[in-house]
Amino acid sequence: MAALHSVAALRAVPAALDGLPVAGQGLRFPPVQVPDLTYTPEVARETAHLYDKVARVIPPVEWPFFAPYVRAINEVKRQRNAVILAHNYQTPEIYNCVADVVGDSLQLAREAARADAEVIVQGGVHFMAETSKILSPDKTVLIPDSRAGCSLAASITGADVRALRASYPGVPIVAYVNTSAEVKAEVDICCTSSNAIHVVESLGVPRVIMVPDQFLAKFVAARTKVEIIAWHGACEVHERFTAEEMRRFRLDDPSVRIVAHPECPPEVIAESDFAGSTAAMIDWVKTNRPGRVVLVTECSMADNVMAETPDVEFVRPCNLCPHMKRITLPKILHSLVNMTEEVVIDPDVAARARRSVERMIALKA
Ligand code: SF4
Repeated sequence: MAALHSVAALRAVPAALDGLPVAGQGLRFPPVQVPDLTYTPEVARETAHLYDKVARVIPPVEWPFFAPYVRAINEVKRQRNAVILAHNYQTPEIYNCVADVVGDSLQLAREAARADAEVIVQGGVHFMAETSKILSPDKTVLIPDSRAGCSLAASITGADVRALRASYPGVPIVAYVNTSAEVKAEVDICCTSSNAIHVVESLGVPRVIMVPDQFLAKFVAARTKVEIIAWHGACEVHERFTAEEMRRFRLDDPSVRIVAHPECPPEVIAESDFAGSTAAMIDWVKTNRPGRVVLVTECSMADNVMAETPDVEFVRPCNLCPHMKRITLPKILHSLVNMTEEVVIDPDVAARARRSVERMIALKA
């Protein structure tokens, strides 16, 4: 069962939540009242409508572990005037039961900037929390576990970008949003997996450097006349998929449809029926309603899309992102109660990073 790993995390309830109410960190944030974390008939009643959303992926026997946290988080969230952002790769109980905004990393950051909230809790990894802070400099941005990293973001530093610029003078540098604020601050413009080709071609030059994902760079290079110079980063989840696996899916069921993310190796993309960003993959499934589909991406995405497409059967090649899975309900509650861990970015770095992100947004508009 996809949700079991989350239950294991719930059993390791942070002791810091005992003896409630708990004061906020210092005088900057007032104390909050945290509901009791016992599963009672009242909790069952109050959360029943949320369980309906995840009943296909969370067995009834597991819900008593989740429900008290779901209720407590939704209550404390109101007291804090906070919004919770959940990336598509977050587990179903986070995505469906406590999140206010769901989507890919850029959708989340943009929606958060529009939200009338003082506090943003990022259900996702660190570079996403930084992107939220970049676009919402006046809000308090929290990440429930700051160790939630990303192999792509970790593959390149600001110094690496400066070295690339020195090696290729005059060649513009495009950074995938899966990068740190420090890297975004050094590049010319950002891109997402859905707009990468458009961003590259908008620059009107024959050569462009793309960082950090070598596979997204290859995906773009195969679809444009612009010469692409690629960095060597890769997503540790998507790079593990193989063309052989895809052929086996088709052998097992010739009617199955295969939908892949551009962070996959090119030979995997070549075996797929459709390749596109996280949002484009979801749209494709909702529009085409295949009988059976393989989502060649992080495992939780199928769980989350499943809630909205009950007529589609998902074959799940279960590659989990260990960084995304660091975020759990107990950690979100702990984060909201104690106002930790706050994401802080040097104002100069944040301003330069914002310029790269806003150039991309302006282009899209
Ligand atoms: S799935 Fe890949 S790109 Fe996304 S956070 Fe995990 S390691 Fe990074």
